[in-house]
Formats: sequence, C-alpha cells, structure tokens
Amino acid sequence: MLRVDTWLRRLEVVLWPRTCVLCGAAAPGRSLDLCEGCEADLPLNCVACSICAEPLSAAPGASLICGSCLRRKPAFDAVYCPFQYAYPLDHLVQGIKYHRAVAQGQVLSELLAAHLHTLRRAAPLPEILVPVPLASKRYRQRGYNQAIELGRCVERGLRVRMRTDLVIRSRETREQASLDKRERRRNIRDAFTLIHPLSARHIAIIDDVVTTGSTVNELAKLLKRSGAARVEVWAVARAANPQSAKRSNAPHRKMNSSAIPTKIAMPK
Ligand SMILES: [Zn+2]
Ligand SMILES: [Zn+2]
Repeated sequence: MLRVDTWLRRLEVVLWPRTCVLCGAAAPGRSLDLCEGCEADLPLNCVACSICAEPLSAAPGASLICGSCLRRKPAFDAVYCPFQYAYPLDHLVQGIKYHRAVAQGQVLSELLAAHLHTLRRAAPLPEILVPVPLASKRYRQRGYNQAIELGRCVERGLRVRMRTDLVIRSRETREQASLDKRERRRNIRDAFTLIHPLSARHIAIIDDVVTTGSTVNELAKLLKRSGAARVEVWAVARAANPQSAKRSNAPHRKMNSSAIPTKIAMPK
C-alpha cells in the first residue's frame, strides 16, 4: 500500500506543475523545480578522495585518498558531496548564498537529500545534523543561513534532527572566499564555540560548498574535542581547489534570467 506522503507527492506533481530553476522550461511530471535535461547536466563528483571528497582524476571505483589527507588526516571522518562546484551547479549555490533564492535552495536541498541516500547506502545515520553557523554580522546582513536552508529537506528526508542551537561562531572571521588554504585555516581557527552540552556521538555537519575543508575541519575538531566519535560532512558541492571554482568556460545555453546571480563569487 502506498504511504500517505507518496500519495501527496503524486498529487502535488499533477496539481502543481514545476518550472526549471536553471532553464526556465516547464518541468511536467517532475517532483522538483529542475527539468530532466538540467539535472543531467549537473557535474557529479564521481571520482573523489574517500575522506575529503576532493575531485580526483583516476579510474572510478578505485580506493582513493588525496595527498592532502595523506599528509594530514582531517578531524572529520568523511565528506559526502554529490556534485562538483562547477557550471551549472554553481549558479544554484550562488543563488542561495547571495540572493536568498528560495526555489534554488529547495532544489539543492532535495538533491542533497536524494543523493545522500545513494552515497551513504546503508551506513548508520548520524544522531544529529549541525549546520555550519554564520558569523553574526554576516547573518544579520543576509538574514538567513544557507546551510540551515540546505538542511531542511535532509532533516525531513533522512529523519535526522537538525540542531541549529548547538554551535555559534564566537568571533567574526574574514570571508573565506578571498583567502588561500593556509590563510583560511588561520582565519577560522577557534572560531566556533559549543553552547550546549553535546550528547550525540555521531554527527553530520551540513554546509553548501566544501572548498579547502578548513571550515568544516575546524568545526569537526570542536565536536570531536567535545565527545563526538564520528563526524561526517554533508555538502552539496566540492570544489577541486580555489582556482577550479572560478566560473567554468563551459558553453552557456539559454538560462532562466532569475537563476543567474549578478555577483559571481568563490565558495567559502
Ligand atoms: Zn532545465
Ligand atoms: Zn582528501
């Protein structure tokens, strides 16, 4: 027998035809605002480091660990990022990051939830989700935290509670986008504070894009110091390195104008 939420989902697909947030085309029969063609264009992160998910060039299926993780094991245990930070996924990420694009946020959150099911297979689920907190000044400027927005469908889809009250950014930091890897590490050092006791032992940090991993590593360090045994990172996209995050030279096709951010920026 079909579950009630499956029925509601089917009814929603019929009653509320979708429009693709990337090309603006109607997306009939789809359960999210993304057409089949645009979803197929999203750059999957298929061959990646098994710890930090940095995209690597090697045969799919090989057991891979990148040079950076070999030199210094990160505080987190695994990063799950279904996509690479590249065209056209970068448009969606910048939409939620800088323009509070609700539809784009919903699409990314649904994609993340769906891909996590596949990426993690039957691995035990964490007890809680912890979105990377924004500095209070940046939160006031933006009025929202994109990591929390991304966590919403994940929380519902995987039935893991999101805790937004657990960690704060206790000091202002410079925007990571303008810094190199070493500066990022220094900039974010001791930037987070736990404000409630931590009882969970298995935690997933939620973020939008992992670039060098400095931010999530710092947060994972705090969670581990506070008693967590396993810390995963769940993010929509992984950048190969800061240079790779510049706008791709991929040929542009007609885009929905509302989906094109006016400000192109590096991920944090
Ligand atoms: Zn489309
Ligand atoms: Zn790695």
